[in-house]
Amino acid sequence: MSYVINNSCINCGACGGSCPVDAISEGSSQYEINPDTCIDCGACAGLCPVGAIAQ
Ligand code: SF4
Ligand code: SF4
Repeated sequence: MSYVINNSCINCGACGGSCPVDAISEGSSQYEINPDTCIDCGACAGLCPVGAIAQ
């Protein structure tokens, strides 16, 4: 189970550059995590101002 970005994402972009495997991208309506690439490191989760990233 990878980390997931839920629909509270406000598209601030804070998490964008934080991923060591580049699993985070700006989706069509909000940021998203590629579950096939995410290695569950947790680096992105603490950066989100609205707590939208969870495991
Ligand atoms: Fe990237 Fe780690 Fe966040 Fe997964 S948990 S999206 S690997 S920063
Ligand atoms: Fe969305 Fe949170 Fe990432 Fe900002 S840090 S783009 S609110 S998931």
